[in-house]
Amino acid sequence: MNILRRSVVLKLWLIMVTLVLIILYITGVLQTAKLRQLYYNQQLELLTGEAKHISTIKNINDQNMNVNLLSTLAGAFKGNIMVINKQGYIVHCIGMGMSMKNVAGEKISVVGHHDLPWKKSDLQAIMQGKTVSYRGAYHFLNSDVLTVAVPLYNEGQVTGAVMLSSPLGPIEERIGTLQRNTLYAGMIGIVLATVLSLLLSRTISRPLLKMHRAARSMAFGDYSRRVEVKSQDEIGLLANSLNTLAAELQEKITTLERLDKTRREFVANVSHELRTPLSIIQGYTEALMDGMAESEAERNKYLADIHEEILRLRRLVAEILDLRKIEAGRLEMKTREVSLAHLASQVFKQFQALAKDKQITASLDFVPGSYTVKVDPDRIKQVLINLIDNAVRVTPPGGQVKVSLKEFKDTVQVSVTDSGPGILPEEQPLIWERFYKVDKSRARTGGGTGLGLAIAKNIIEAHGGSIDVSSKPGRGSTFYFVIPK
Ligand code: ADP
Repeated sequence: MNILRRSVVLKLWLIMVTLVLIILYITGVLQTAKLRQLYYNQQLELLTGEAKHISTIKNINDQNMNVNLLSTLAGAFKGNIMVINKQGYIVHCIGMGMSMKNVAGEKISVVGHHDLPWKKSDLQAIMQGKTVSYRGAYHFLNSDVLTVAVPLYNEGQVTGAVMLSSPLGPIEERIGTLQRNTLYAGMIGIVLATVLSLLLSRTISRPLLKMHRAARSMAFGDYSRRVEVKSQDEIGLLANSLNTLAAELQEKITTLERLDKTRREFVANVSHELRTPLSIIQGYTEALMDGMAESEAERNKYLADIHEEILRLRRLVAEILDLRKIEAGRLEMKTREVSLAHLASQVFKQFQALAKDKQITASLDFVPGSYTVKVDPDRIKQVLINLIDNAVRVTPPGGQVKVSLKEFKDTVQVSVTDSGPGILPEEQPLIWERFYKVDKSRARTGGGTGLGLAIAKNIIEAHGGSIDVSSKPGRGSTFYFVIPK
């Protein structure tokens, strides 16, 4: 029972075998019954015909007749012929080991004689001209027999009856053969069921076991395992789902792990980012309190440095809060129709001085057009600032930064190209994540928070647009975003 509970194939095998046996049993029983019925009917017809024939023999119930003919006939059909007279007394009884001839004078009644099956009512029926038949054990003749009794007529009057009995041996033999054949069929059925089960185990059990192993590996944290099932049936579907599940889980878990790592790095970074300006502020303030600044100019320089560090801290905090709001979808957008070219020009101007300082050639490039989009101008400006700021920051002296705009039927595209170090292909998907920084050491000097691109992506996507980068290490990068009109 335990092993049954463990194996689908064994269950199927048992079901198939039971089915085969039940069907064979039912067909066997039905066929046997039908065959018997057919045989009896046929036999009955034959016997009745024969009995009627015999009943036409002249003076058959005359107790002095010559019964040689009857003996021959009984021998020919290997049965028994019995003739009785009107009173129910046996006149002749010949065949099947009997040889009572011309015994009417002995007044042996057919009813109650030995264990002949006849009853008084049968006799009455026969004498009224009816044909009566009996089928079953007939000990007196030592066999299962079929008997039919037909009335004898003389000038329209019933004068007695002829009773023919024929042993039922042959049919039982044939039924025996049939039953044996059914048994063989049953055995073949069991063999077939076994073969089928083995085949099924290939198509059902094996894939299921494979899936089981894959699921177990997943439980132990290995999501790389895939189930190879080519069938398109329910099992194939399940295997496919399992594979998809594994792939998705793998992806989700990798993302989660990466996010977790980024977050941990962020905590380290933020504490560092906070610690640096805080210690600078602390140092300068203490210096001021100790009266170490000797001139007004020196004191102002200290204050200016302190102020700059405070601004830096504010920016960091503001960016984190902003990002959280955008990500939570709480940032309300104040959209209106504006020209993207106009916004780009505004931001571009802010960076011109910085670019010039760094000896970077900066250019803004677009063919005249409306570039009208419905956006939150402050947010889009923020995106432009983040992109251009990054570009100017990474570009070495002598390099170029180019901002260009293109207008299409339904969209406006803005791209910011720099001649900086570029981004490794494997880092390109990662730079959009919060707090992700390509060059960890740059964070200390460059003042980046690793949030700029994450914010930009969030803002662009909130506008129904998309943002991406194309870059080759050593050849600079192009960041571009598309806003629907
Ligand atoms: P940050 O505020 O630190 O610049 P960002 O989210 O803007 O953060 O950028 C994420 C990372 O992508 C940074 O480490 C930065 O070095 C890198 N990156 C951004 N823009 C460029 C660029 N134009 N060229 C090369 N690297 C870039």
